[in-house]
Amino acid sequence: MSFKIMKKASFPDWVAHLCQRFQVYGPKPLHGQYIFDEIHSVEELALDYTMTVLPPKKLVLPDKEELLHFKGGQAEAAIEKPVRQNVILGMHTCDMHALLLMDRVHSTGYADQHYLARRENTIIVSLECLKPCTEHSFCKDMGTLSISENYDLHLTDLGDDYAIDIGSEKGALLLEGFAAIWEPTSDDYQRVNRVVAEKWPRFPYRVDFDTTDLPSLLSTSYSSDYWDELGDRCLACGMCTQVCPTCYCFNVVDEVDFTLSAGKRIRVRDSCQVDEFAAVAGGHNFRKSRAARQRHRFFRKGKYQIEAYGLIGCVGCGRCAQACLVHITPVDTFNQLHLRRSRSYKGEAVKP
Ligand code: SF4
Ligand code: SF4
Repeated sequence: MSFKIMKKASFPDWVAHLCQRFQVYGPKPLHGQYIFDEIHSVEELALDYTMTVLPPKKLVLPDKEELLHFKGGQAEAAIEKPVRQNVILGMHTCDMHALLLMDRVHSTGYADQHYLARRENTIIVSLECLKPCTEHSFCKDMGTLSISENYDLHLTDLGDDYAIDIGSEKGALLLEGFAAIWEPTSDDYQRVNRVVAEKWPRFPYRVDFDTTDLPSLLSTSYSSDYWDELGDRCLACGMCTQVCPTCYCFNVVDEVDFTLSAGKRIRVRDSCQVDEFAAVAGGHNFRKSRAARQRHRFFRKGKYQIEAYGLIGCVGCGRCAQACLVHITPVDTFNQLHLRRSRSYKGEAVKP
């Protein structure tokens, strides 16, 4: 829509201005790590954060939520009626791509009214990433190091100033009544271009091939021995999926009161990596082995989501690599599959 410039010295006043009008969330330090949580002033905010332990997804798709309640044969959907609009400040571009996928998943086919109500009430202020978050980041490989849509405001750090790209009317609303912004000059545009151009060489490529080849690589690797090797190592703890910004599998449980005449239906986050995830009636488990579940996880990240929704299922944030106690990572997995396929094409021994 349009572009503005704000002095960094004015940023605390703007955050205070937002906190008066909205419920504001942002990255905060906690025990040497970072989390997305509610903030009440700029002092709590750590915009120079690396990676949050959990993605901001939890603010639009909570780990546990009531879907409906029932009493005496009557059921009613439990859609939250928020008092104030939420603002999420400082989302990195990888998490923005994950949000794009979440939006598409939850509005395609049977639209998820709970998600959409929360999302509609949320205004997003994203942040241009200027250096890799951790050694596990591979956003450049996955094409998520920049974003051109789905934000309401997008901030670029110019040193003394922020460049603010206004992406929507909701974003413009955040600047309403705040005087300390101005129209960019041609010099400001040049500064933005320079800052953005200079960031790219700071991010390494870590995947050994063009990731647009991932769906095809995975297809040809369906019967690879590598899945058994991952299955032998995997602890089935589910941490990789709990921290992932693009995982959204859930279970539904009923909590019924003592009289059995009233209760709630609850949606709780689940993980395709735990042993009982695919257990169904009759004691059957349709994805019983950890190898099959690892394969399913990586197919979902690199192939199934593209086919179903046209968007990549892994945004390269590196959270799962950081969380996994046995060092199973997407980068190693993709590179190993690529290496083994190359060797098999050349007629060499597949295992390194
Ligand atoms: S975090 Fe690692 S060990 Fe745990 S389920 Fe995921 S891949 Fe397996
Ligand atoms: S699979 Fe791992 S690296 Fe990819 S989006 Fe999920 S947590 Fe991030």
